[in-house]
This record gives sequence, C-alpha cells and structure tokens, in this order.
Amino acid sequence: MNIVLFGKPGAGKGTQAPLLAEQLGVPTLATGDVLRAAVREGTPLGLQAKAAMERGDLVPDEVILGIMKETLAKPAYSRGVILDGVVRTVPQAEGLDRLMRELGRRVDAVLCFDIDNEEIVQRLSGRLVCDKCQTPYSEGQPGDPCGKPGCEGRLMRRKDDEPEAIRRRLHVYEEQTAPVLDWYRSKGTRIAMVDAVGEVNAVTQRARAALEG
Ligand code: AMP
Repeated sequence: MNIVLFGKPGAGKGTQAPLLAEQLGVPTLATGDVLRAAVREGTPLGLQAKAAMERGDLVPDEVILGIMKETLAKPAYSRGVILDGVVRTVPQAEGLDRLMRELGRRVDAVLCFDIDNEEIVQRLSGRLVCDKCQTPYSEGQPGDPCGKPGCEGRLMRRKDDEPEAIRRRLHVYEEQTAPVLDWYRSKGTRIAMVDAVGEVNAVTQRARAALEG
C-alpha cells in the first residue's frame, strides 16, 4: 500500500505516519526528517537545504525527487510506503508518479488531514521535538528529556516553528502544495479526507476508517 499523507504543516502527518505505518506494516518516508538529519550532519544535501528550511520555504523539487528515488527502490519499501511531507508541489507529484510506474507501483490513496489555520498556528507555536529521534511533543519545555524509551535526546523548538516561519509555511502551502490535491483528483487517485482535530488515537482511527471506506 502506497499512501501519501497530505495536509498543512502541523496537521499531524508526522505524528500519524509512524502509527499508521505500524498498523499497516509498511515503512514511512518523511522528507523533513531526512533533510533535518542531513542538516545536523552537515552533508552536502543538508547544506543545500538548510536556509530554505529555516525560512519555511520548500527545498528544490530535484532534491526531494532524489531522496524519493534513492529510498523507494530499497527492498524495505517494496511492500509499500507512507509518504509523510511529500508530495508538496505538482512537479513532485508528477515525479513520484513516474517513479512509481518504473517500480511497477502506484499511489493507492492520498490521505488528507483537514485542519484550519488558527489551530495550526496554536499547535506549531507550542510544538517541541526531540533533537535525536524527532518525536513531536505538544507539551513540555525546551531542554526536557525525550520520553521515548532508550532515547537520550532533549526537547527543542524547530527553527521553522517560529511565528514568522509558520506564516511563511502556511503561505507556501496555499501557493504550492494545495494544488497537488487537484492534480491527484484529476488523475482519479482516491482522496480520503480526515478531520485532523482531536486526540491522537482518535485521529488514527478516523484515518484507518477513511482509508478502508
Ligand atoms: P516537515 O517536517 O515535513 O514539515 O518539513 C520541514 C521542511 O523541510 C519544510 O518546511 C521544507 O523546507 C522541507 N521539506 C520537507 N519535505 C519537503 C518536500 N516534499 N518538498 C520541499 N521541501 C520539503
């Protein structure tokens, strides 16, 4: 099963992706996590992506398509994938479509997390993430230890969760990402809508029901 998680930044894609992946038995690919790891490690990919990410802008489509190409052909991904944070532009959707065809696969559904901007701003400005495993937290203080067993990371605020970058990311979403949904609609891909507001497990259940329905 190949599923694209779609929605505004802060809609909960990163929270739901591992939960859905575990339940469906397929791995996730979160381009934001791949890019943040590259920035931390100071690789050429990270150096290329850092400034755009901190501003709340998108990194170039070729970079994202390169990550997808490299990852999706790996044996671990042969049974399917949950794509978290890809695709964010129409050229990325076209590129993924080509890549999937080369691999003899297709996007089975786009799971669209529905949420309004007011809720997003509130969520993102309170969000902290573990600096090691990237788990998002909606409570706690910067510097608190990560709650995941065995993880020795500390909670921190992402640079792109500062108010100005949040505004920029919402603008970028409307301009460049929202049209992707119409692109999938025009291709006849199944679009499953989920109300993204509420308790984490309730959203997961709604997402499962939307995918099955
Ligand atoms: P995320 O963790 O998904 O919110 O991604 C964080 C940042 O990484 C975004 O604001 C972009 O700068 C960059 N990024 C992640 N995925 C993509 C993508 N598919 N296309 C372009 N930029 C991306």
